[in-house]
Amino acid sequence: MTVQEVVQKLQEIAPLAYAEDFDNVGLLVGNPLQPITGILVTLDTLESVVDEAIQKKCNLIVSFHPIIFSGLKKITGKTYVERVVIKAIQNQIAIVSIHTAMDNHHQGVNFEICKRLGIAKPQILIPKANTIYKLSVNVPKQNETELKQALFSAGAGNIGNYQDCSFTVTGTGTFTPKEDANPAIGKINKIETLEEVQLQCIFPSYLKETMVNTLWQHHPFEEIAYEIIALKNNNQQIGMGMIGDLEEPMSEADFLQFVKKQFDAQGIRYSALLNKPVQKVAVLGGSGSFAIKNAKQQQANVFITADIKYHQFYEAENKIVILDIGHYESEQYTKNLIVSNLQKKISNFAIILSEINTNPIQYL
Ligand SMILES: [Zn+2]
Repeated sequence: MTVQEVVQKLQEIAPLAYAEDFDNVGLLVGNPLQPITGILVTLDTLESVVDEAIQKKCNLIVSFHPIIFSGLKKITGKTYVERVVIKAIQNQIAIVSIHTAMDNHHQGVNFEICKRLGIAKPQILIPKANTIYKLSVNVPKQNETELKQALFSAGAGNIGNYQDCSFTVTGTGTFTPKEDANPAIGKINKIETLEEVQLQCIFPSYLKETMVNTLWQHHPFEEIAYEIIALKNNNQQIGMGMIGDLEEPMSEADFLQFVKKQFDAQGIRYSALLNKPVQKVAVLGGSGSFAIKNAKQQQANVFITADIKYHQFYEAENKIVILDIGHYESEQYTKNLIVSNLQKKISNFAIILSEINTNPIQYL
């Protein structure tokens, strides 16, 4: 198995196309064609993690956070980032990052946080727009089933917990093949009238090329009448943060203790308590201050996140309790999640959880 084959498996878990624009995901260091000896999964790629990979004979590091984020102009070993890159290259170790692709996934970072809080069916807090396309294609009646099945197999027709979703209308198509045409149906210079079906289905935007290729493979015509339209609909399966209900309401004091225990938090900073029971909980692993307003709008009792600044705590406005449990603490279980997902996809390779705590923050 090569590095790029592992990247492909990661794509099946969390498509990199769903990462945020500011992010830097995918293969960051190394040769995509290099055969792999083992995979080490970590939250951050530090020099000590590269050493661990060497020691454990893993030549691929799958890292949640990207070690190269805003570009490198020099690689001289002056910064920790440069030293990691140098050490990885010298030891032929590849580094892959999936970061916000995993944040945005409906069974990603925030699903894992919800799971540890006992929230059974969380929903996406900020569903992502512009990730759904709609395909409309005209096809002769007798080819409808084949084309539809091919599109479904390629990833079209999924809406929430439903698959094979499509809509068809029957109508009449007309065309006249010109001199140089090679028509599947009809004759040169003779107008043809044909019973056709217009087939409509949606698909994830990142599969556009796949869908067009599928059309050309499974449609009988030399020229295909089709359109692809970008929808403004939110995608309920993709986006930042999650929200859901605890099975039983808890007092704020009990909930704080529960969170501290579940995430082994060294210190939780929180806004004023409201003396209300906690049931609806919003979560966003990592730096989530941008979503305070969404958590408030959706009437969460508490919002669990990290990297909240002094003034941002005021935004609670006595409507919600904001909990800053620490960036590392909120995302720490992501590496377990990546390992278990990869193990389901790749059974014959060592996939090892890094034992290094990469939290840069110390508590008194
Ligand atoms: Zn993070």
